Amino acid sequence: MIHGIIFDMDGTLTEPHIDFQALRRELGVMAGDIVDHLKSVDDAERRRLEQILHRFEEDAAVNAALQPGAAELLDALRARGIKLGLLTRNSRKSVETVVVKFGLRFDATLTREDAPHKPSPEPVLALARRWGLQPAEMLVVGDYVYDLRCAHNAGAKGVLLVNARVPEWAHEADFVVHRLSEVLEVVGGIQ
Ligand SMILES: [Mg+2]
Repeated sequence: MIHGIIFDMDGTLTEPHIDFQALRRELGVMAGDIVDHLKSVDDAERRRLEQILHRFEEDAAVNAALQPGAAELLDALRARGIKLGLLTRNSRKSVETVVVKFGLRFDATLTREDAPHKPSPEPVLALARRWGLQPAEMLVVGDYVYDLRCAHNAGAKGVLLVNARVPEWAHEADFVVHRLSEVLEVVGGIQ
């Protein structure tokens, strides 16, 4: 049985918005992990890069649109007594903008400031402890391979939401859905 579900934000509950290529160009980080890069530079450079990152994230948050069925899915899962988490590498400020804008409710919200971040299993393990659940009773729903690896590294199941083309790493998912409403079927199929 699934008793806890952790959702990614950008591209999962909200429509994909951040232009990662443009962001990488402005940051000067064309390859590798942006969050790790920020940790590797000196304080002045980190502040400069964080301002760029925050500008992209705030723009994405202010202009965010929910994916079709997102609010209805969260309501339906809550009605079944399932704990709901939001786990994102975005900033807390941009998350609060989205949560307030759409009136979303979560039992827990973990953002970039709550390190370590995906694909580390730590955020899932932390929520499992907080909710008194086993990771095997939890799903992580996301649109990126880090979401799936975060789930697997913790012993949870990973659900891939495909937004456009099925990515080459889709085989890493336990379940592949093309609409958020299908998550209800996934939950119903795990007894
Ligand atoms: Mg995402």
